This record gives sequence, structure tokens and C-alpha cells, in this order.
Amino acid sequence: MLEWSDVDIAVRDAVREFVDKEIRPHVDALESGEMEPYPIIRKLFATFGIADMARDSLDKRLARLRDGGGAATDKPASAGMFGGDGGSAGMGFVVVSELCRVSMGVVTGMGVSLGLTVPTIMGRGTLAQQERWLPDLVTYDKVGAWAITEPDSGSDAFGGMKSYVVRDGDGYILNGQKTFITNGPDADVVVVYAKLNEGDAGSGSSRERSSTSNPRNRKVLTFVLDRGMDGFVQSKPFRKMGIHSSRTGELFFNDVRLGRDRLLGETEGDDTGDSGRDSARSNFSAERIGVAAMALGVIEECLRLCVDYAKTRTLWGKEIGQFQLIQLKLATMEVARMNVRNMLFRVIEAAQTGTAISLAEASAIKWYCSQAATDVAMEAVQVFGGNGYMTEYRVEQLARDAKSLMIYAGSNEVQITHVARGLLSD
Ligand SMILES: Cc1cc2nc3c(=O)[nH]c(=O)nc-3n(C[C@H](O)[C@H](O)[C@H](O)COP(=O)(O)OP(=O)(O)OC[C@H]3O[C@@H](n4cnc5c(N)ncnc54)[C@H](O)[C@@H]3O)c2cc1C
Repeated sequence: MLEWSDVDIAVRDAVREFVDKEIRPHVDALESGEMEPYPIIRKLFATFGIADMARDSLDKRLARLRDGGGAATDKPASAGMFGGDGGSAGMGFVVVSELCRVSMGVVTGMGVSLGLTVPTIMGRGTLAQQERWLPDLVTYDKVGAWAITEPDSGSDAFGGMKSYVVRDGDGYILNGQKTFITNGPDADVVVVYAKLNEGDAGSGSSRERSSTSNPRNRKVLTFVLDRGMDGFVQSKPFRKMGIHSSRTGELFFNDVRLGRDRLLGETEGDDTGDSGRDSARSNFSAERIGVAAMALGVIEECLRLCVDYAKTRTLWGKEIGQFQLIQLKLATMEVARMNVRNMLFRVIEAAQTGTAISLAEASAIKWYCSQAATDVAMEAVQVFGGNGYMTEYRVEQLARDAKSLMIYAGSNEVQITHVARGLLSD
């Protein structure tokens, strides 16, 4: 793929118009928390028929499953964020990228709900579970969250996980805590990963601890919780560095009683597999690839703002764009834009041809694109001088927002280990 298709460009122009009219004028209100991010996305979905498209796609899937056409856990042909097939992959990325030019936070909340919560339930849930939770989630009428991170287990997500369930009759009791959860304060539906504690205390000799009795190795199960359940507490939003229009918080589980119907797939799996770990891992590539589209939006917006500023800011009788050191910054931004865009084109082409992107490649893409967006945005602040440090000129928000891409969806240091592991395992 060498260029955006005509359809992609038409979608881009229409979304850009929507963003200019419906989001740009409200960015300060979104950033301050005065305005919630969810209604804007619902308006976007209504304007472009995205909710209808997602509903139709889900209806067809559920009808096929009811008729016995495929296993409930079959993934859709291409699990595009908006429920489309591989052919619409470019469109989804265009929407994400355009939104990120002005409000990465809005995209982060949408991405977690549609890109993590929905695929997890779709990929692991029984037909009944998909019928119960997906219809309101795919249209964004309900907001989803996806909770794996805990205070003592970020990068070491499975090993360090302390949230646990014990069996209770045919169901479970959940205790523990999650942190940094996008949409956590507001989510209606939350996918939660927790270890199965089968009664052993996890103590004993070091030899015993290295076996399956070691709490690090316990089976991970995946549950779906609804807002307002007894013992389930959603915190207020954290204050943070950027993506202020995305609300991030903690979740607390105090003896939350979970029926078996809330265990995704309604099975703990056998002793050879670990459905919870597999469930979480199956999202990693898609989440990492999504970062490329977000990074592209940031870089394109920085370039637009910087080129314009370089042509208008005059010092020593010249536009600053005439200074070679400023030209170097602009040219470096352009190369980053070309590289990130080309990586995204490869991802789109892979979706169109049904080719999987390996975890190592997705990690390389995430690492490169998030670093490029952060570097570009920090340099954009520099091009603007003192104005760059002022909120009014927007580049400072882009720099704060871009930094988040280096941390979530797996920190960049962890991406590097996955790239290296891919190379060394050949
Ligand atoms: C804005 C935001 C939104 C988020 N949303 C969600 C969400 O919706 N759901 C969710 O479950 N989580 C979410 N997270 C959590 C996110 O996935 C974690 O922050 C991330 O995985 C890193 O974990 P940590 O913060 O505990 O850092 P740590 O794991 O404590 O890492 C500390 C440092 O050590 C480095 N490090 C760790 N391991 C290695 C290694 N093997 N080699 C070298 N260096 C290493 C890290 O890269 C980092 O620099 C979100 C985080 C943020 C900031």
C-alpha cells in the first residue's frame, strides 16, 4: 500500500470537518474535565453511521452463532475497532488518527472500550455472554474498561498479579485492586483478570514455590463485572500528565460475588492451558498496532502547526523557517511522519489480506511510533519557543499526550524485549 485509498481520504476529510466543528471548540472543556468525553464519541458514531455498522455486524455474528455457524469464540474476519471487516481497516485508523490530532484522550477511552473490552468478550465469551454485554458496548451506549494492571504488577502483569478469586459454590468471590484503568471511574462493564486461589498459601520450600503452587504461576481467569455490583468500587479519576480527556482510575473488589455466568467462556480451562493469560495476550498485538495510528495523528498535527509557525514567526528580519536549525527540526518531523505512515500502511495491507502481524513486529511498531510521536511533539514545543510552553498553542498538550503512548499498551522497554525475543527465537 503506497497511499490512502479514495475512500480513506473521503472519510478523513469528513472526520476532519467533524473534529473542527464538534471537538476543537471544546478541547479546553474536555481537558479540564468540565465536559465528558463519551457523548462526543456517540455523536461521531451517529454522524457517520458507525453505531449502525457495528450493530449490523454484531447482529450477523450472533445470528450465525445461534444457527450453529462457528464457535462462539471465533474471531470476526478482522476484528476492526468499529466491527467492520478487513476492507474497513484503513477507515478505522483514519478516524483514530484524525481524533488524536486534537484529543488523544477521547481516543484512548474509545480504544479501550471498543478495542480491548469488546474483543475480549467476543473472543472468549459464550454466545449468552456475547448477547448479554456486546450490543450496548459495540455502539458505545455503554462504556467498557479492561483491567489487568495492579499496583505491584504493571509490566510483570501475570506474575505479580494479586487480585484473586476463590471458588464459592458454583461461582467465585473476588478480592483485590486494579490501577491506572482507562474509563475505570465511569465504565458500565469491566473485564477483570484475577488469579484462581485454590487454597494453598503459596508458602513452603523454594522448590515448591517454583512449581504451580507458586502464586506467580496460578491460573488467571477472566470475568465481566457490571457497574454497581456489591463490593465493587470505582474510584474518582486520577490527576495525570496528559490525555486529560481520558479518565483513568482505580478499581477495588471487596468480596465481590461472581456467578459462573460472569466467568468468560464459563470454564476455567484444563490444566494445560491458561485462558486468562491467553485472553490478555490475544489483545496485545492489536493494542500495539493501534498506537501507530494515534502517533500519526500527533505527528501530522505537530507538522501542520510547526510549518505554519515557521512561516509566520519573524526574527532578525526573517521567518524562523529560514534558519537551518529549524529546518532540521521540520525535516526530522517529516521523516518520522513518513516512517510512521508507512508502518501503518503495512498494518492496513496485512488486515486487508488477512495476514497476521507477529507480536514482535507489533512491538517494534509500537516502540518506534510512540517514541517518534513523543520526540516530534517535544521538538514542536521547541519550535514555538515560549509560545510552545503555553496551552493556547496546543503543542504542549500534544507533547504531554504523546508521552502516554510510551507507557501504556506495554511500556517501551517491554516492547524492546519482545522485539529481541522475536529475533533470538529464530
Ligand atoms: C494513561 C494510562 C492508561 C492506562 N490504561 C490501562 C488500562 O486501561 N488497563 C490496564 O490494565 N492498564 C492500564 N495502564 C497501565 C499500563 O499498562 C502500565 O502502566 C504499563 O504496563 C507499565 O506498568 P507500570 O506502570 O506498573 O510500570 P512498571 O512495570 O513498574 O515499570 C517501571 C519501569 O521499569 C521498566 N521495566 C519493566 N520491566 C522491564 C524489563 N523487563 N526490562 C527493562 N525495563 C523494564 C518499565 O519500562 C518502566 O520504565 C494505563 C497506564 C497509563 C499511564
